[in-house]
Amino acid sequence: MYKIEHVGIAVKNLADSLPLYEKLLASECYKLERVESEGVITAFFRAGESKIELLESADPDGVIAKYISQRGEGLHHIAFEVADIKAEMARLKEAGFRLLRDEPSRGADNKWVCFIHPKSAGGVLVELCQEREME
Ligand code: ZN
Repeated sequence: MYKIEHVGIAVKNLADSLPLYEKLLASECYKLERVESEGVITAFFRAGESKIELLESADPDGVIAKYISQRGEGLHHIAFEVADIKAEMARLKEAGFRLLRDEPSRGADNKWVCFIHPKSAGGVLVELCQEREME
């Protein structure tokens, strides 16, 4: 795997969190995007070579809303950039990791993504992401 592409942070609402992270990172949010497949609205910031992704639930029963009701706002996942997501998924499956989906799905920020269940990854929700070719 390559670098940490981004760190995902669950927030209750972007309206409150955007100014906080703009102040913290001394950087402007450069992209707001709704991801239908995950039921989230995302906001991206650059932090050096990596990014910070804020995630707000797009609906009250979404996975981010559930996460926040159980654990509060905060760190949600770590995303690693990979060159070949399908090969990496096969390698991890072979090694005993539990993938949340069998095929890569369309994630935010023009990526193919796949998540690894935290129960098989030491309590950390891990995301693999690969830059999507322009279509
Ligand atoms: Zn992410």
